[in-house]
Amino acid sequence: MAKILIIGGGVAGLSAGIYAQLLGHQAVVCEKHFVAGGNLCGWDRGEYHIDNCIHWLTGTNPVTKTYKMWEELGALGGIEIFEGESLFTCEYEGKRLSLYSDLDKMKNEMLAVSPEDRSEILSFIRAVAFLQGFCGIAGTNHNEKISPFRAVAAIPCLAKYYRLTTGTLSERFSHSLLRFFFRSFWGDDFSALALIFVCAHFCGANGGIPEGSSCAMAERMVDRFQSLGGELLVRKEAVRICHKDGKATAVSFADGSSVQADYFILTPDPASVFGKLVDLPMPRQLENFYTDSAFKRFSSYQCAFSCSLSELPFRGDIIFKIPEECRSFLCTDQLIVREFAHEKSFSPEGKNILQTLTFVFEEDAWNFILLRENDREAYHQKKKEIENMLLQLIENQFPQMKGTLKCLDMWTPATYRRFTGSEIGSFMSFALPSKALPLRVSNRISGLSNVILATQWQQSPGGLPIAAEVGKKAAETVDKEEHKRKRK
Ligand SMILES: Cc1cc2nc3c(=O)[nH]c(=O)nc-3n(C[C@H](O)[C@H](O)[C@H](O)COP(=O)(O)OP(=O)(O)OC[C@H]3O[C@@H](n4cnc5c(N)ncnc54)[C@H](O)[C@@H]3O)c2cc1C
Repeated sequence: MAKILIIGGGVAGLSAGIYAQLLGHQAVVCEKHFVAGGNLCGWDRGEYHIDNCIHWLTGTNPVTKTYKMWEELGALGGIEIFEGESLFTCEYEGKRLSLYSDLDKMKNEMLAVSPEDRSEILSFIRAVAFLQGFCGIAGTNHNEKISPFRAVAAIPCLAKYYRLTTGTLSERFSHSLLRFFFRSFWGDDFSALALIFVCAHFCGANGGIPEGSSCAMAERMVDRFQSLGGELLVRKEAVRICHKDGKATAVSFADGSSVQADYFILTPDPASVFGKLVDLPMPRQLENFYTDSAFKRFSSYQCAFSCSLSELPFRGDIIFKIPEECRSFLCTDQLIVREFAHEKSFSPEGKNILQTLTFVFEEDAWNFILLRENDREAYHQKKKEIENMLLQLIENQFPQMKGTLKCLDMWTPATYRRFTGSEIGSFMSFALPSKALPLRVSNRISGLSNVILATQWQQSPGGLPIAAEVGKKAAETVDKEEHKRKRK
């Protein structure tokens, strides 16, 4: 049995810990925050609960391998799954179009909106349906095995989307609503093939929301880890990895203590680890992504509002264009607003909670971070101005909401950086660009034989299933190393 010290108690760290325990090792997870879960979290503001994470969780369909992993991790299994009718809805010039869970319904609505885009619409729908069978994604064509024949057959159907971004895909449509739809959630630079993956999962009943959402899921994973005998240390910020003769020996913490172990698993953003926690450069393969301008890092700012209106004018996430004059201040040209009617406990009866989500890329993320560091008052002022502008935009879009909204909280890339230690407050990996496949970066670090990486940055675009998978893989790597060592 090896002692494994895991830095970071997010999904990757908890997954590494759970699988290490299942493989018969002794895992200790150290988390700098006072609670584990990392980005998989939420918090209360008065009578309201703010959810930070799950818009959709891949692996909620029991026929998939990912579901089995979530079950092993204690995250799913016997948990009610909310299957929304749509992942998001776009509103443009008074018309709406949704990414429906029902692929046929989506096809028919698209065709009704724009019969002249028929050939592009059918090509898109065909690619989604094909992918559902090809990659073991749930759906009517579900097939866990990828035969070489199917792999070859997939090439012509999917190659077109591999070459396109969401922006260039949207330009292939003539109707303005369809154009807006394809670039609405992720903007212009995201891989169109990745969008097909998203649709394939969601339309295959494989992208639901587990009951209780983010906090509840994190708590279940913590319970699973501790019930297997794992040790969780909170308020334990690792500040240094000590090493000698190519092996790490111990980790020192901000509180002055240090812990020794046989193996060390690192889960935080590598940009905050290499040259900082450990005096070694980032592995070349990983550094290539950080320096390649096609692989963009992003974060977001968000605002939560209580809403005293009991019946909302939309369901799920709604996206609409914002006026030209607000765009540069808000760092976006569209607004994503989300409601939580599916979670009855998140707001008092007859009321609702709404959250806006605005993705920001690296430069804007740094602006928030540096403003907070250099001028706290100006940072709070900026937050207040954004909050007021968002409130007005929502009220303009939905006049029936006028006077019913009150801001509960606002958080920015600076908040994410403070709480998770990620350099620019990223909560996922790189946005996957066109002409790129989500290849996996090795979890080994040259120069440190007993240190293993388990970070979502190893596979773009990250997210909960990737974090869980890299955690699992890290535990398996340790286990293999241990077996090798014993055989010697
Ligand atoms: C708004 C939002 C929406 C999202 N929506 C989805 C979604 O719908 N579906 C989906 O799949 N994913 C979603 N995600 C992404 C998902 O939350 C992340 O991919 C996942 O939580 C990453 O887990 P992780 O363990 O790799 O990293 P993190 O969650 O960042 O965890 C790292 C942990 O390490 C700790 N840490 C850092 N440095 C140290 C240190 N020096 N010492 C000790 N501890 C340290 C941090 O405090 C943190 O707890 C969303 C995220 C956000 C914020």
